[in-house]
Amino acid sequence: MSKQLILALSKGRILEETLPLLADAGITPAEDLGKSRKLLFDTNLAHVKLVVIRATDVPTYVQLGAADMGIAGKDVLLEHGTDSLYEPLDLGIARCRLMTAGSQGECSGRARRRVATKFVNVARRYYASQGIQAEVIKLYGAMELAPIMNLADEIVDIVDTGNTLRANGMEPRELIEHISTRLVVNKASMTMKHDRVKPLIAALEAAVDKRAVNEAGA
Ligand code: AMP
Repeated sequence: MSKQLILALSKGRILEETLPLLADAGITPAEDLGKSRKLLFDTNLAHVKLVVIRATDVPTYVQLGAADMGIAGKDVLLEHGTDSLYEPLDLGIARCRLMTAGSQGECSGRARRRVATKFVNVARRYYASQGIQAEVIKLYGAMELAPIMNLADEIVDIVDTGNTLRANGMEPRELIEHISTRLVVNKASMTMKHDRVKPLIAALEAAVDKRAVNEAGA
């Protein structure tokens, strides 16, 4: 097994918040990730490389060992399933909530509901746990449109400020899970590359702790 460490980063919103944390942990990309079309990057550490991929692909890369470690939102991890990965650290960034939502002023009293979401596994588990019969419809974006177009009674989606929901005549209903970004590690890498993985987890943990202290003092 190669002693190189591949760290898979989620593109987009999470990436912007991940890079300062990585820098605090002593890892900086060899070039500007935002300005390049490349997907695989060297870093200042000879044994650490970064791949920048879709958030939903991060758990797959890490589970199958194509990447040793990954950074992904808990929403993505819950949808993928977390049994096959270690999740040693909550990075405390990109915090939001996974919620059900529906049209403003409409009650959600029906025992049987149509639910549109990209989080189909999370939604099925949640509604089953509530004893609600739900027909779950997979969408890939613009979930807020589904109730307006009578495609669904409710949606399951990520809510931060709630502005997106309100702008579309919707309101948040039930909280399913508080979400933040997590570090995940391939199970074999945790054992076989222990001497390289452990210091990286420790450095990220120290960076997270430092940030928490700074935020508390601010
Ligand atoms: P808001 O209007 O502030 O409630 O933001 C809601 C939208 O922003 C959702 O539809 C999400 O797609 C996106 N969003 C907000 N926070 C996050 C996050 N931490 N990770 C991924 N997407 C997010």
